[in-house]
Amino acid sequence: MCGFISIFGPDATDAIHDVLSGLLAIQHRGQDAAGVVSFKDRFQAKKGLGLVREVFEDKHIQRLKGPLAVGHVRYPTVGMGEDTDVQPFWLDYPVGVAMAHNGNVTNFHELRRTYFNNRNIHLASSCDLEAVLYVFADALMRRGRDSIEFEDVKAGVAEVFERVKGAYSVVGITADGMYAFRDPFGIKPIIFGKKETPEGVFYAVASESVVLDVAGYEVVRDLAAGEMLWIGRDREPVFAQVGSQPHRPCIFEYIYFSRPDTFLDDTSVYEARMELGRRLATTFRDTGFHADVVIPVPESAKTAAQTMAEELGVPCREGFVKNRYVGRTFIMPNNEARRASIRAKLNPIRAEFEGKDVLILDDSIVRGNTSKQIVAIARQMGARKVYFASYSPPLLYPCFYGIDMSTKRDFIASGKDHTEIAKELGADHVLYQTVEEMIDAVRVASGKGAAGAGREFCAACFEGKYPTGDIDEEMISDIEEDRLAAS
Ligand code: AMP
Repeated sequence: MCGFISIFGPDATDAIHDVLSGLLAIQHRGQDAAGVVSFKDRFQAKKGLGLVREVFEDKHIQRLKGPLAVGHVRYPTVGMGEDTDVQPFWLDYPVGVAMAHNGNVTNFHELRRTYFNNRNIHLASSCDLEAVLYVFADALMRRGRDSIEFEDVKAGVAEVFERVKGAYSVVGITADGMYAFRDPFGIKPIIFGKKETPEGVFYAVASESVVLDVAGYEVVRDLAAGEMLWIGRDREPVFAQVGSQPHRPCIFEYIYFSRPDTFLDDTSVYEARMELGRRLATTFRDTGFHADVVIPVPESAKTAAQTMAEELGVPCREGFVKNRYVGRTFIMPNNEARRASIRAKLNPIRAEFEGKDVLILDDSIVRGNTSKQIVAIARQMGARKVYFASYSPPLLYPCFYGIDMSTKRDFIASGKDHTEIAKELGADHVLYQTVEEMIDAVRVASGKGAAGAGREFCAACFEGKYPTGDIDEEMISDIEEDRLAAS
């Protein structure tokens, strides 16, 4: 999971300002590193490890001139989290092109072994974006033109779709304009917007609609699966449908990644989470257990906890206060560090637990570290019964499309039934959403938007069905090895 924004503004403007406010709005998609590449006569870059506000100082903003700029926040999936891997990447030669992405290339290792090594190209980073960039740039170069135009970009995107497998939403700039494309299955989100100003029209492409909102852009639309966009010197947006696979957007975006104030493919994440909460209330009621209070694990579970409580007719209370200044526990280097920091991050309010039957709700249970400690804290605070609920189903299969859910053995639900999971968590009962209810809940929220119901999703982490159809045992072990080495 990463976030990006790319801007093409009027000639005399500097896109960096909107890029930075956009990056701040999607900081939740990656806190590990940030970078911007802009273009005015030549590419200028600033990249570094850390949060957006830590990486960029005034002097960088002064230097990153030009109406074209692309920015990225990183959450490492492939690669070791080195600074050589910080996006965006760019090439000055043989064609000038900068690029950033969100997602994960599943045949990265194979591309490196065959396509690149056979041509004596040795990738400098361990970031899969480099593979996309070289395939794209190679196609542009072979067209042998002085400037890059729509047909060149289209040929580049077609070549990427042919060679590069996996999930990738891509944005970038050249000396002549801005391009964007969404992988053939449209797994990762990407949205296009514009802003009219006295200086002229600004165009933006970003990972989430919230980025456009905060930077003052109006949403034009999401890119479709397999679709590309090019805006050249004439400043006319041109779209083309290059891929022809069924759309399978990542359902985990609705569960956890995206901000609740974002719309993905015309569907409100907030509405989806409200519906997920309502559905889980019914499942809880069917167990015959009673809860005095619903307590969300902040922040992502707050929306669903409200509707769950409403539906159950009990209060929803803030039982945990989150310290926002502790980094994400999930991305801490090892289990020990993760365990220690959960306590520093979430402090309980005793009055909400003491003598009560509490229903604690989180968006998901991955390794179970967070939930185990939360259950223990609830008991220390004097809870009578502790029910732990996840508004997503059990996570059982590694994601190869950009979520750091590395290896199967990491999942607490792997090979266990609900009773065993509850025992391991120390809870009186554990409750999950079913896959069917989850999909239906997001469909109901979609039904309120233009996208309509009846949508299919990538729910591979819950069901093990990988839409790209190329995930085999060799690929799984390649990727697992990579991730184990990095952990
Ligand atoms: P765990 O402690 O391993 O069970 O992780 C569960 C917690 O991590 C939940 O509170 C989620 O909100 C959060 N979470 C779920 N998926 C991810 C992810 N891919 N990256 C970071 N955090 C996540």
